[in-house]
Amino acid sequence: MSKVWDAIIIGGGAAGLFCAGIAGQLGKKILVLDHAPVLGEKIRISGGGRCNFTNLYSAPANFLSLNPHFVKSALARYPSAEFIKLVRSYRIGFHEKHQGQLFCDDSAKQIIELLFAECAKGQVEIRHPVAVESIAKSGEYWVVGTSAGTEQSKAVVMATGGLPVPAIGATAYALDIAKQFDIRVNDPRPALVPLSFTSDTFGDLSDLAGLSVPVKIAAGLKGHRYGACCFYEDLLLTHKGLSGPAVLQASSYWSEGESIHINWLGNERGSGDTQCESIFTNEEHRLKLTENLLAIALPQRLAKAFAEQSGLLGRKWAEVSKKDRHTLQELVTHWAVKPAGTLGWKKAEVMLGGVDTKELDSQSMMSRQHAGLYFIGECVDVTGHLGGHNFQWAWASGHACAHAL
Ligand SMILES: Cc1cc2nc3c(=O)[nH]c(=O)nc-3n(C[C@H](O)[C@H](O)[C@H](O)COP(=O)(O)OP(=O)(O)OC[C@H]3O[C@@H](n4cnc5c(N)ncnc54)[C@H](O)[C@@H]3O)c2cc1C
Repeated sequence: MSKVWDAIIIGGGAAGLFCAGIAGQLGKKILVLDHAPVLGEKIRISGGGRCNFTNLYSAPANFLSLNPHFVKSALARYPSAEFIKLVRSYRIGFHEKHQGQLFCDDSAKQIIELLFAECAKGQVEIRHPVAVESIAKSGEYWVVGTSAGTEQSKAVVMATGGLPVPAIGATAYALDIAKQFDIRVNDPRPALVPLSFTSDTFGDLSDLAGLSVPVKIAAGLKGHRYGACCFYEDLLLTHKGLSGPAVLQASSYWSEGESIHINWLGNERGSGDTQCESIFTNEEHRLKLTENLLAIALPQRLAKAFAEQSGLLGRKWAEVSKKDRHTLQELVTHWAVKPAGTLGWKKAEVMLGGVDTKELDSQSMMSRQHAGLYFIGECVDVTGHLGGHNFQWAWASGHACAHAL
């Protein structure tokens, strides 16, 4: 146990490997320990195998945290433009898909290879699979007990990620270590996750599985832990309930017992009400059947379901009373539905909650109470919106930490 590392990084995922590569290239002696037989599995499965590795517009407003200011320093010092520069330097082809989301043209594996190459440049030692059994402070050094022996270090960086997808090695180890050192942890919850519904929630809408509809969706309440949201995204009706980007985004703001609100006509920022009005008030439409009127803006099957649910199927619009028109309009534009729950850690993309940011220095990610103990990536109470923001946090927090080691 004679060698003393500058830092031992626990977790060789996105944040851990990125931090290791930078610190190594800055001349630090870095050891990465991971319990998984294969590293980078979350990166490999991300973005449908193409890794949505960052977002052109990643900004503090794209993150949920009990302290929304916490991300500002790290993001400002390592914005998405820096990671894009790095990706370009490896000649990895990429494209923008939607709202600034950048994906590899070929494969997520290219991002994993980039991270390994950066680590190799910094002469980082990576050991896996290794079980980390204990972390303790002994005098001026940290002592890490593993299944392969004991190591000493000036610093320990916890980068074991969040709880989603336990099948590929997710654990709560960073949160356990935080608790061991009396560092506050905010309750972890699955986020960016499909929502589930009881069988009677949808009535006749349950046979609409497979339909994808652009909507305006709102969830959460002002004054709530993580505030409220409003997104313009596609919603997917599934056999189990609602999914698609709209619902994944809303799930991060949703709490048990609350409703989510959907405007099925609000498919473009600000255009919802105008479009809605023109459908319902345009005199040219008065001789149309209700379902055909709705089908101007909605998929036929959904239009029919709404007409049926409001008892107006087969009725000419001109014959519908003012009250029934208003009821239908409310149903379509202010649809409130109460999810029963989420599909849990197996289906979640990220974790909400984690190590409380008040416990960490936002410049370095170091514990305020315990010098030399750092937390980066998803284990910190910082959760990005869908669209590459979670990887951007892994890069930015890893970069901030690496420069402080
Ligand atoms: C299906 C899916 C798709 C996603 N797609 C995207 C996307 O396209 N864009 C995006 O921005 N985000 C995406 N994410 C989120 C993104 O993958 C994570 O936010 C990001 O990987 C977090 O980086 P991290 O380094 O903190 O954790 P991880 O990348 O999860 O790495 C954690 C590492 O720690 C190791 N570890 C865990 N426990 C221990 C332990 N006890 N001892 C030792 N090692 C341990 C793990 O084996 C792993 O190697 C997706 C997530 C999922 C599940």
